[in-house]
Amino acid sequence: MSNTNSSESVRITGFKVQDIRFPTSEAQHGSDAMNSSPDYSCAYVTLETNQPGLRGTGLAFTIGRGNEICCAALHAIAHHVTNRTLASITDDFAAFSRSITADDQIRWLGPEKGVVHLAAAAIINAVWDLHAKDCGMPLWRLLASMSPDEIVNCIDFSYITDALTPEEALHMLQTMEPGKKEREQILVENGFPAYTTSVGWLGYTDEQVVQLCEDAISAGWNHMKMKVGRSLEDDMRRAALIRESIGSDRLLMMDANQIWGIDEAIEQMSHLAAFNPFWIEEPTSPDDILGYGRIADAVRPIRVAAGEHCHNRIIFKQLMQLGAIDICQIDACRVAGVNENLAILLLARKFDIPVCPHAGGVGLCEQVQHLSMFDFIAVGGSMENRMIEYVEHLHEHFIDPVRIERGRYIAPSMPGFSIEMKAETLLAYEFPGGPVWHRRVS
Ligand SMILES: [Mg+2]
Repeated sequence: MSNTNSSESVRITGFKVQDIRFPTSEAQHGSDAMNSSPDYSCAYVTLETNQPGLRGTGLAFTIGRGNEICCAALHAIAHHVTNRTLASITDDFAAFSRSITADDQIRWLGPEKGVVHLAAAAIINAVWDLHAKDCGMPLWRLLASMSPDEIVNCIDFSYITDALTPEEALHMLQTMEPGKKEREQILVENGFPAYTTSVGWLGYTDEQVVQLCEDAISAGWNHMKMKVGRSLEDDMRRAALIRESIGSDRLLMMDANQIWGIDEAIEQMSHLAAFNPFWIEEPTSPDDILGYGRIADAVRPIRVAAGEHCHNRIIFKQLMQLGAIDICQIDACRVAGVNENLAILLLARKFDIPVCPHAGGVGLCEQVQHLSMFDFIAVGGSMENRMIEYVEHLHEHFIDPVRIERGRYIAPSMPGFSIEMKAETLLAYEFPGGPVWHRRVS
């Protein structure tokens, strides 16, 4: 790969996994129709190298109990990276990604879904973090500087060539080469549009919601999302309050977090349509592709959004082929990391579906910003109807936290994937022995 500096001599020598949890359930941050009291957590992996000070970090996001299972899965696939040179991975990135997702014994636990896929994401993203640091670039810029051939060589096209072939992907990327420099300039000067979910968690009181809307507007936010699905009466009351607070021109998104059946989703949205939602997110089970198709047909012009629980590129492909989603919500660490997300970005481009990443959690905003910025420069080429989710919690734990100005993400400049946490955070929040947990569980 042309951007490598020292990757020939960089060798991954060590592998460390930590179970990191934040007691967010105590203030109802992150509460929605399906997840009433999440403790935002992550299985956090560090790749040590033979180069002083150079390491890669990645994480698998979970919401508390079971985080230890992700940590165990990371140990089960660690042998795919340890004692390898960075160049041996980046020279054939698709083969590396496939070596993990197609590991002939591990594959039985998925395939390409669930805990083992979350662990694959953490390791693959840690390698990208290491690679970007080694190249001295933020990840979005590293990806944008790669040639169309190099990008295509990162992608495992298995099971998606009926929708997207490597040749088509290459052609789409080649057509975007002119104008990349201009779009990079626009991005650096203006940032990338975002929306906030911090106003509308289900566990908040009406007074809290109104105050948060007012605060968000004065901070420059124009797009907000509320959680729905626990009770129609409550949803109608809260939607009316939010609409009144934000006015008719600002966008209001709704997120049901999979709580409804198909007919129920269609019925509920017939009432909630009165508040002019821009999209309804995850109206039903993420596995019900035909159900999504029925809902999308029934609720138009309201858009249907999904992706944060889509297992892999194959599910995204089917949702897009069927016209069952209007907004593609990639997640940095639900699918197998950067490589699989490159496939999904290209599928979205092929089907002309805007990408609005899922974020929030812990470390998700930090990661997905890089993918959206690359998408703008080299794949989708547009910011129209594109927005990155933003949730305000837990950024203080990162060495290179997201920067938001007037409702937009500012392009990161520090080398890497912005995933690395502060040493004091890792000490304090490690479960169950760190001081934050020791006093809670003892
Ligand atoms: Mg959601």
